[in-house]
Amino acid sequence: MKIETQCLHSGYSPKNTEPRVVPIVQSTTYVYDSTEEVASVFDEPTKSLIYSRFANPTVMAVENKIAELEGGVGAMCTTSGQAATLLSILNICRAGDSFISTTEIYGGTVNLFSFTFKKLGIECIFIDKNASDEEIMKAFKPNTKAVFGETIANPALTVFDIERFARIAHANNVPLIVDNTFPTPVNLRPIEFGADIVTHSTTKYMDGHAQVVGGVIVDSGKYNWNNGKYPELTQPDESYHGVIYTESFGEAAYITKVRCQLIRDFGVAMAPLSAFLLNTGIETLHLRMERHCENALKVATFLENNEMISWVNYPKLKSSPDFELAEKYLPKGACGVISFGIKGGREAAVKFMDSLKLAAIVVHVADARTCVLHPASTTHRQLTDQQLIDAGIGADLVRMSIGIENADDIIDDITQALNEVKKCL
Ligand SMILES: *Cc1c(COP(=O)(O)O)cnc(C)c1O
Repeated sequence: MKIETQCLHSGYSPKNTEPRVVPIVQSTTYVYDSTEEVASVFDEPTKSLIYSRFANPTVMAVENKIAELEGGVGAMCTTSGQAATLLSILNICRAGDSFISTTEIYGGTVNLFSFTFKKLGIECIFIDKNASDEEIMKAFKPNTKAVFGETIANPALTVFDIERFARIAHANNVPLIVDNTFPTPVNLRPIEFGADIVTHSTTKYMDGHAQVVGGVIVDSGKYNWNNGKYPELTQPDESYHGVIYTESFGEAAYITKVRCQLIRDFGVAMAPLSAFLLNTGIETLHLRMERHCENALKVATFLENNEMISWVNYPKLKSSPDFELAEKYLPKGACGVISFGIKGGREAAVKFMDSLKLAAIVVHVADARTCVLHPASTTHRQLTDQQLIDAGIGADLVRMSIGIENADDIIDDITQALNEVKKCL
């Protein structure tokens, strides 16, 4: 099936007389006829359902759908994108280990990697995504267990060279983990370019309606964990009566371990109602992404030709330093988020945002309605000046998430707000 069809049909195929729509199984637990039978499920956790912290039919339907959309062997939903990022690393890194990440990543991820992981004894080695192969190779240590990047960085909007980083990661015997939140699998399937693990904040385009916070981890099933670096996958798990994930679950070792061990212990399982809403969002993901991208390019082009705008950043603009990468990885489109600077710096940016009528100021991106945010004073407030520069965010940067309204209405709103800014100059 093509991706448009998968968005609608993957993950749930009702049989004769069963509900057309994925049912919300609002139950914490499942009934068994005998003690022996329930005991056997503890021995073989993927055999059937026992408790909704581990798995739930509504959540499983959306997990299977996302796994197919990304071309992976399995997926696991979490309560948020942050939880997905956290568990994707913790599944293969422990105290005393390190991993490598590019600096151009989501602000919440920067905090997690540089502060919270440090307290847990896990070191994140930050590198510039444009550093040479040699420089990146030098960053690896014997205890390095993964490489991490964002396919389109939020909010820097730079494009990650997946093939290059996969090659470097694999040359060092570690997997590549990518956060594919912004392009979604409709515009980019990182596994096809060598990524091993894919994460998402489903809060963004996948849900698409600003209704439910969620995350997901997808396992490509392609990484060979039997290289001596990942004893937690290749040797008995004493917390799960000695199961060896690579032996018992083969290509699904990573995604089974994260479920058996980390969802069990951290408890960040997605709720059935959230999964239901997410699934409804994904059904129209392909249509929405097309319109988001079409509108974003129109608005970005309009801004680029406006005298009050000092710069516009959108990977599908020819002026973007990542235009070539965008052509390669994002032929169908990038995402609906654009960023730009208004002449007059921070003050002009704030006046502009306060004057918008259609676009709302919200701490969110990537939903159907156009919205706007000033990252330096909100989402990235906790970052130091140097971290802001490393993340590609200046004080004049306005991040606008272009919705699926009529593009002319969005441009009219921007025009009237720029006129208000002009009055103050
Ligand atoms: C929002 C976001 C996250 C965090 O996701 P939450 O669902 O808010 O926890 C992670 N990565 C990217 C790229 C994001 O945009």
